[in-house]
Amino acid sequence: MDEACQYLSYREAGDGKSFETARAFCTVTGSFVQPMRADICNARYGLDPETDCEFYEEPESAPTDDAPDADR
Ligand code: SF4
Repeated sequence: MDEACQYLSYREAGDGKSFETARAFCTVTGSFVQPMRADICNARYGLDPETDCEFYEEPESAPTDDAPDADR
């Protein structure tokens, strides 16, 4: 895989913080991505989210929606 991680998204708010510009957000961990890890998320420098990120989940196990109010 040489594409950005499917779990990568960009948000301006989340994790109890908000920003003026959208930042990389991981929907697996439910938190913003650290700048060092963003290279993996974006598959830069030959890195591969699937093999280089310990948070990556196989697509078969659907990403969980861990929003606290999910059981409305
Ligand atoms: S932290 Fe891992 S699972 Fe999350 S978006 Fe980045 S590469 Fe994907």
